[in-house]
Amino acid sequence: MSLPATLVPTRSDAAGQDRAAPEVATRPNRPTLPPERVHPDLLSEVRQHGKFDASCLNCGGCSVVCDLAAGDVTFPRRSIHLVVLGLKGALLDGMEPWLCHDCGDCTVTCPRQADPAASMRTLRRYLTGQYDWTGLGSRVLRSRAWHFGLLGAVAAVVFALLVLYHIYWAELSLGDFATTPMGMEHMFPKILYFTWIVYALAAFVLLVHGWRMYRFAIARSRPPLRHFIAEARTLFVHAATQAQMRNCPTEARGAPVVGWWLYAGSAEAVPRRWLKHWLMALGTVVMLVVTAFFLRWFQTDAVHPFYHPQRLLGYVASAFILWGTTDHLVRRMRRPKDSATRERGALTLPLLLWLTAVSGIVLHALRLLGLELGAHYAYAVHLAICVPMVAVEVPFGEWAHMIDRPLALYFEAVRERARAELPVEAGLEPAQT
Ligand code: SF4
Ligand code: SF4
Repeated sequence: MSLPATLVPTRSDAAGQDRAAPEVATRPNRPTLPPERVHPDLLSEVRQHGKFDASCLNCGGCSVVCDLAAGDVTFPRRSIHLVVLGLKGALLDGMEPWLCHDCGDCTVTCPRQADPAASMRTLRRYLTGQYDWTGLGSRVLRSRAWHFGLLGAVAAVVFALLVLYHIYWAELSLGDFATTPMGMEHMFPKILYFTWIVYALAAFVLLVHGWRMYRFAIARSRPPLRHFIAEARTLFVHAATQAQMRNCPTEARGAPVVGWWLYAGSAEAVPRRWLKHWLMALGTVVMLVVTAFFLRWFQTDAVHPFYHPQRLLGYVASAFILWGTTDHLVRRMRRPKDSATRERGALTLPLLLWLTAVSGIVLHALRLLGLELGAHYAYAVHLAICVPMVAVEVPFGEWAHMIDRPLALYFEAVRERARAELPVEAGLEPAQT
């Protein structure tokens, strides 16, 4: 990663904004980057996104204890100092907060009790806002009013659409709402199109999000296309397995858990947090795929036998989501009250996911019991929870990390390849990393 080792002030303006244009010192085997502007407001901007302690002594203990920081990648100390120095470009270029998996080892060992793990969480929120082109992401991640207001507005739109559908399409009078069970299959064709629209909008915002991350991180150095193709496997592996989290030695501590056989190692080496997170992500992806492509098979008034694949798939995916989100919520609630994750609504995403799973289970139970009217209302509540979650949390909230983490590792791998080739092209010594 490009590290501005020395800063040489070259100019200042009268207003004191962007007061210096330091020259970024480069290593012999690295291309010369243009001078970077200093952003005096960077620290206060970052602090709007959560806890960030700038009293770091620069002792480097956190980087030494962090097993995921190796070679040139020296977070969290480096990331903290980039913010203190106002080097926004280098912070965006580095992507290091995405390589951290929030194990907390650095916080335990920090002699200044600066809680560097919390600073890294805050930086991830800040970067997520920077990647979002609409400006909504930054607002949602800084302000509870915006966050909950947007979730509430989308939920209100969902309720309104359901009411309007029943009045104008199903031709029910308002009085019939409390008395007329009519099953749900009549809704599913419309729900399918609505689902596609919601998913397509979220996917579009996320695609632009990834593009902006690319622009900030490596577009300036323009690695050749062949490096992107050669490292495509890195992107796939990290997106599918979250291997970086599994690499954290802290993950390997603790007693074995159910599902240890999924991990190719001894029972003692089962990384519990990784396993729960991976299964939760798997359950969520299964549900997203099923609702996007197989909704009419999955959502039906017909009650299949217990062993039917439709029911088994739903039970297994729901169990994975419930297990992962419950563990996530419990761990976050145990954090100190001044922790950034307690302050900034970071419980919202796992809570919405948990509520989506629970409301889906209640809906299913009401269907099995033959309580059609209750199932109808349970379905409305289920949609009013899961649609805002997908429409707000995926493109604008913390859920964007599902593409930010693998993309950061991918871009870092591409950059490493390009760096390794530079000495050959320039006739210089190989990189010492
Ligand atoms: S251990 Fe604490 S004081 Fe030392 S560099 Fe890291 S954050 Fe700063
Ligand atoms: S929380 Fe863990 S992974 Fe993240 S910087 Fe600290 S020690 Fe490294």
